[in-house]
Amino acid sequence: MNEEVNSKNMQVLVVDDEPSIREGSKRILDRMGFGVFKAANGEEGLNIIVSQDISIVLLDLKMPGIDGMEVLQRIKEIDKKILVIVITGFATLETAIEAMKRGAYDFIPKPFEPDQLRIVVNRARETIRLQMETEKLERERQRTLMDLGMEKSRIRTIIESLPNGLLVTNPKGQVVLMNPAFKNLFGISSGTPVNKPVNSYIPDEELCRLVMDISKGRYIDYGDIPTYEFSLGPDKYLLARSQPVLGERNECLGAVVTFEDITAMKVLDRLKTEFLAKVTHELRSPLSTIHEQITQVIKDTAAEESEKDQYILSRAKEKTQGLISLIGDLLDISRIESGSAQIEPMSIRLEDLLKSIVDFMKAKADSKQQSLSLILPDEKLPEFKTDPMALESIFGNLITNAINYTQEGGKITIRMEKAMGTVRVNVIDNGYGIEAKYLDKIFDKFYRVKNDRTRYITGTGLGLSIVRGLVESLGGSITVDSTPGMGSTFTVILPIASSS
Ligand code: ADP
Repeated sequence: MNEEVNSKNMQVLVVDDEPSIREGSKRILDRMGFGVFKAANGEEGLNIIVSQDISIVLLDLKMPGIDGMEVLQRIKEIDKKILVIVITGFATLETAIEAMKRGAYDFIPKPFEPDQLRIVVNRARETIRLQMETEKLERERQRTLMDLGMEKSRIRTIIESLPNGLLVTNPKGQVVLMNPAFKNLFGISSGTPVNKPVNSYIPDEELCRLVMDISKGRYIDYGDIPTYEFSLGPDKYLLARSQPVLGERNECLGAVVTFEDITAMKVLDRLKTEFLAKVTHELRSPLSTIHEQITQVIKDTAAEESEKDQYILSRAKEKTQGLISLIGDLLDISRIESGSAQIEPMSIRLEDLLKSIVDFMKAKADSKQQSLSLILPDEKLPEFKTDPMALESIFGNLITNAINYTQEGGKITIRMEKAMGTVRVNVIDNGYGIEAKYLDKIFDKFYRVKNDRTRYITGTGLGLSIVRGLVESLGGSITVDSTPGMGSTFTVILPIASSS
């Protein structure tokens, strides 16, 4: 039995004008574990009821002073929950029935045996116990309902005040919730009802298709669903992120989609690209001239200048060469980003192209005593149309990185494999590796991982950004897998178009 509904401390009041009944009942009730109060008449009894916590009253109906029936009524007025057992002589059975009608719990005829009293009082005690238990359960239920209600309204308030747009659908792809930020982004008036299919609210067909598919559970075990960028008119760019909402048994309950306004970021990005393109374009020819002139001076004065001057000049030449390649990278980037990178498709045999790139890079690997090997599949790949310049840049950059970020004596392997309609090329090194937290950043422009091993390796942080831009322009994809201290594997997947 629960602590709170313990009936041990229940108190019983015996109201009877006969002292023998009062004393006899008290003895029995004491033994049953009750706290017992006694009153010789109705008035005394009512006083005790007001001042004490009484649960059960044994009430004689026939007493001098206030009539028992009246006392019953007053008790009920004071506290309806008190159970009143009336004590009555056989002759007044009808009165007893009348008392029951007026709210008495039970009656006990006079004279009674101790057992009779025990049975009736025990039943009353059980009734009170059950009542207390029911009340407690009801209180708990109310508390849970209140908690739920509060939780619900708190979540609703949070959703309503989210700065990003939020849309939730059901498994049929109908919208069940949209927050004010979403309506704001899409120019939907605040009173617009929900429950229509998602394409009634979002004008982008491809995104609607994706949300529909997610809602219907087609992306349950998909991992990360790619973000989706789209524009709403010429001046508004949005980024949508979607996820299925899963129930307890992993069933799909719909989709949740968030929308972020990325217009400012887009404009900034475009301005940055335009600015870079302009500046680099302006710098390229004077720098090339300086480079050529230094080269000439070094040649012309090789015999006369001191060793120190020669050293200074060759450092200057190296630096201008570094700047020229940085400018080359920047121009490549701006061409890729503005979409003006010309893909010049030619029929090529990828094995041959990789062989020539690897041959070309051999000297660089040798200078660090690294092994550089190429593994080709037994079966020859058909010739296919692609842009060889882009491929040279892609694999040139990846192999250069593998050499740069691998210790002397390391091992670099290029492995080509044919897959369904595609070709996969892995550039594998056993070098420094990259911490997981940087893996998605290294493809960003100018991003370089700075640690004790890479600090002194020169670079622009543009190589991988160019590589990814070029791979994507060829319709392929690039991924990286790396373990710090063990090495990295960059994987390029390219579609094999027919060579016709
Ligand atoms: P850069 O090499 O000019 O710094 P990249 O864009 O080519 O620029 O590479 C970005 C960063 O990624 C590098 O600075 C380096 O920290 C890391 N990285 C690239 N390739 C590798 C590799 N094979 N092993 C370890 N780290 C690499």
